[in-house]
Amino acid sequence: MTRDPRYDVLFAPVRIGPHIARNRFYQVPHCNGMGYRDASALAAMRGMKAEGGWAVVCTEMVEIHHTADVSPYVELRLWSDQDIPMLARIAEAIGAQGALSGIELCHSGYTANNLWSREAPMAASPMPTASYFHDPIQARGMDKEDIRNLRRAHRQAALRARQAGFDLVYVYAGHGLGIFQHFLSRATNLRTDEYGGSLENRARLLREVIADTKDAVGGDCAVPVRIAMHEFQGAAGLEPAEVEDAIAMMAELPDLWDLSLSDWSKDSQTSRFSEEGFQEPYIKGVKKLTSKPVIGVGRYTSPDAMVRVIRQGIMDMIGAARPSIADPFLPRKIEEGRLDDIRECIGCNICVTHDYTMTPLRCTQNPSMGEEWRRGWHPEYIRPRDADAHVLIIGAGPAGLEAGRALGQRGYRVTIADKSGEAGGRVARESKLPGLAAWARVRDWRLLQLRKLSSVSLYLESEMTADSIVEFGADQVLLATGSHWLRDLTGRYFTAPATFDTACDVLTPDDLMAGQRPRAREVTIFDDDHYYMGGVVAELLAREDHGVTLVTPAAVASAFTKASLEQKAIQSRLLSLGVKIIANQAVAGVAPDHVRLHCVFTGAETLHGAGSVVLVTARRPVDCLWQDLAARHLPVGRAGDCYAPGTIAAAVHSGRAFAEDFGRPPRDFLDLPFRREVTALS
Ligand code: ADP
Ligand code: SF4
Repeated sequence: MTRDPRYDVLFAPVRIGPHIARNRFYQVPHCNGMGYRDASALAAMRGMKAEGGWAVVCTEMVEIHHTADVSPYVELRLWSDQDIPMLARIAEAIGAQGALSGIELCHSGYTANNLWSREAPMAASPMPTASYFHDPIQARGMDKEDIRNLRRAHRQAALRARQAGFDLVYVYAGHGLGIFQHFLSRATNLRTDEYGGSLENRARLLREVIADTKDAVGGDCAVPVRIAMHEFQGAAGLEPAEVEDAIAMMAELPDLWDLSLSDWSKDSQTSRFSEEGFQEPYIKGVKKLTSKPVIGVGRYTSPDAMVRVIRQGIMDMIGAARPSIADPFLPRKIEEGRLDDIRECIGCNICVTHDYTMTPLRCTQNPSMGEEWRRGWHPEYIRPRDADAHVLIIGAGPAGLEAGRALGQRGYRVTIADKSGEAGGRVARESKLPGLAAWARVRDWRLLQLRKLSSVSLYLESEMTADSIVEFGADQVLLATGSHWLRDLTGRYFTAPATFDTACDVLTPDDLMAGQRPRAREVTIFDDDHYYMGGVVAELLAREDHGVTLVTPAAVASAFTKASLEQKAIQSRLLSLGVKIIANQAVAGVAPDHVRLHCVFTGAETLHGAGSVVLVTARRPVDCLWQDLAARHLPVGRAGDCYAPGTIAAAVHSGRAFAEDFGRPPRDFLDLPFRREVTALS
């Protein structure tokens, strides 16, 4: 197939400083939880994007100096010449596939706590550091010599980046993480010298560093500037009008303007809170200020939307982090006219949670993300079957669909049976909850791929029993039968089950997703799960006019969503819907007209008047078939939630792992299933 001429504009080359980008697909810098610890894995991941057709592929933020140490987070470092080989490996992996490599040099100012280096953090003005853990650390205000030293450090890092082979060397003033943004914003720059006060003064350091970087490497490397258009603090911080004035003052200095929002939670909004293209209102004024290429992001996965933003003069290249994670081959698929093969990002931010947990990047839609080097997985290819075999998969949720798709791609005969009338398992159910519609893409992409595989058949409304499975006579059975929510209070906080009076109206998320509703107007939700479900269920019931109280043993609602950047937005939405949040309490017992609350600090118990109760605590595998079949000594595997309930991303990954391993000799429990990179001793 060939490209639809409508999309030709996306494949026009673009000049960026001394380089030509081969098309308009630009993978902006993004974090990945691998950094200096997993450099070869990182190189393979970036190289995969280049193979998939992106014209520019960038690193994450790279610490330029030991006072820019953002540990415990694991980013790349360029503290000394020792780091150059690691960075060169990444630049080389990108360049080998014909893409331009970009490096985002970064000094994080008061957001670098220097926990590893033990240096005093430096900032535009003295202030407590920004930190996830509220570390008891303050940054010292920089004097003129510090400013001169920072400029020298940035210049030296630029020279090292060039030596490592990078084509684009960034000056970073974005996400509240780059010190040049801290100087630019009156929220973080309280100086009274020529680097503080007026916009011209606050922009002085940024202007100087752009000039320094151009001077150091500008002949060989392009110098983009990544800048925050909005800090969402009202006039106390940066707003688009002022940032536009700053850009106008330096319009032609850099080789490209890369626009974003600050902080990261505003820039990487999830689909629960924003649509594709959500940044356009903030960035649309910039192109008229400069002749240099302008890029922006906004979770673009639709080629028509990409064409529109270019034709409307909003940006010159399509910036993407998450769409390139979900589908590293997005540009090639558009070029080859294979639009329905695009694996669209669902906007869930599981990818982001792994930067926060300092573990290798992963993706709900793309199970090969982060596994390119470690397990040798490819987002598009998988090795052909070793021999003929017929695999029967029970369950068409994310695990079963991905296993079936990947086994079918390998050439195996696959039958998938699901008792439900609808494919997709939990994704089909959860995507009907408020804000989660885009999650249906996990199912839809896989169903579309299955339709192209003649060796795979899917049967709905087909409940399987141990007897019918034996009778079917497949060579291999895979159970992907999912899990169900518990109704007995067991979870993280209480591990022993409780029993309730039968008069109590106690529901679980499964009941709500099946269409059941609380009998009483007042509803108490006990969220001992801490990810999205408790908050989503609260939103659902509040929108349906129930009076909702959310009880959580954590300090905030949906506590884990801090890591997916959603917590503030979730709590704010719940509060605006009138949901009452009772923090630091667990529901210890349920009676027909009240619940017993248990203080997580003192253990003191109080009664809280409650109507109906929804328990969002823990899930249990649906594994009765497993018990039956194991007793009959059949070749049976398990994948997804029926093995261990987890995220949708984990279910997809385990389905893929089953398909990858199928046909290989069974692995001993003591054998590592992946490669590791172990630091060489000095
Ligand atoms: P996962 O996230 O692990 O893929 P899901 O809960 O999303 O799990 O999907 C499990 C699927 O398995 C559901 O669609 C469910 O209808 C199906 N299922 C469970 N038990 C059976 C069974 N005995 N026969 C057929 N389908 C089943
Ligand atoms: Fe998109 Fe979710 Fe994948 Fe991140 S993890 S790239 S948000 S689908």
